[in-house]
Amino acid sequence: MISRSDCLARDAADTLAPLREQFDLPAGVIYLDGNSLGARPKAALTRATEVIAKEWGKDLITSWNSAGWFEMPKRLGDRLAPLVGAKPGEVVVTDTTSINLFKALAAALHAQSHTGRKVIVTERSNFPTDIYMAQGLTSWLDRGYQVKLVDSPEQLQTAINADTAVVMLTHVNYRTGYQHDMAATSALAHQHGALAVWDLAHSAGAVPLDLHADGADFAVGCTYKYLNGGPGSPAFIWVPERNQDKFSHPLSGWWGHANPFAMAPDFAPTKGIGRALCGTQPVTSLAMVECGLDVFAQTSMQAVRTKSLALTDLFIALVEQRCPNHPLGLVTPREHARRGSQVSFTHPYGYAVMQALIARGVIGDYREPEIMRFGFTPLYTSFADVWDAVEILKQILDDKAYDITAARGAVT
Ligand SMILES: *Cc1c(COP(=O)(O)O)cnc(C)c1O
Repeated sequence: MISRSDCLARDAADTLAPLREQFDLPAGVIYLDGNSLGARPKAALTRATEVIAKEWGKDLITSWNSAGWFEMPKRLGDRLAPLVGAKPGEVVVTDTTSINLFKALAAALHAQSHTGRKVIVTERSNFPTDIYMAQGLTSWLDRGYQVKLVDSPEQLQTAINADTAVVMLTHVNYRTGYQHDMAATSALAHQHGALAVWDLAHSAGAVPLDLHADGADFAVGCTYKYLNGGPGSPAFIWVPERNQDKFSHPLSGWWGHANPFAMAPDFAPTKGIGRALCGTQPVTSLAMVECGLDVFAQTSMQAVRTKSLALTDLFIALVEQRCPNHPLGLVTPREHARRGSQVSFTHPYGYAVMQALIARGVIGDYREPEIMRFGFTPLYTSFADVWDAVEILKQILDDKAYDITAARGAVT
């Protein structure tokens, strides 16, 4: 049996533990939802004041140059690059994940247009916006393009064939925490002549990534989850240098122009990753992304991953030890290589149980159907947090202290 003092001993030995100090977490809260909205780096408040009061307030429009606002998508992209195995000049922080995926898919279809391939293969269990963006693009093009949905990772083996233009997958599933084998699946796509587009929304800042070694062709990801960029902070897109010259998408805004201030009437794409940009960025929100990246700069993704697996292993073990007589079903893979940084359990009253947990300060979230989702963020989650969260879960389940008639908010 694992005791609370075992967990405290692990915290005392944890080299990442001091980083928790750099986040502002309310007292009495165990925050297991950093996979949906990362916690606030303390530095974000100072940085926001600087951007708003000084750069915007005092320096006004000169800040596009003097405060580096114009260069920020590329500068932050270069800072994010090492976390995903990208090189400098291959990433920009910009727009939303949905919009970046649209650009990446459009560019991938364009690169395949001479082949006559018309199919985008993805999973039915993918995060819906990813499927919607693919459906929107293909139906709008109205040239016979199709989106093919598979029901399991195994089905990819037969679904990918000579008609496949693009394999578009989310590396870690938002609901189950299942992690694809990026290298093997990219290789499968290439073997059939398809391109591999990866969504890293639940991977960036959660698991080590090596986009070049793993054969990805394009990738997008989110900064407001594990990267702690703040609510709705701009997303990122990766275009490897080898694909940049042929990176062509229909959102040809002036920020992707070779010489935006020439104000020329014709679009001419800039060289390099800049052509993934579209228009003016939300500078105040973009600036916050750096505060999250500053924390990652103090550790390594290997250290983050080691602690992440220890936290998720511990959570699974404690739930199974302490709540054995409750109808909980583990949907997250036990195998380390197939697991992201979250653990999901089903319960017939999952929504009500999650509401009871949140009311007692254990913040996770709920996803249909019946899934209670717990995200583990090594930068600010302790082993004792895990023990305490399971203790509260056990009490709620033992006492049936949840309201099965609880009304649902707009965001679950
Ligand atoms: C969180 C998430 C998104 C979010 O997209 P937005 O455009 O930022 O709303 C997209 N895809 C996946 C897989 C996600 O997990």
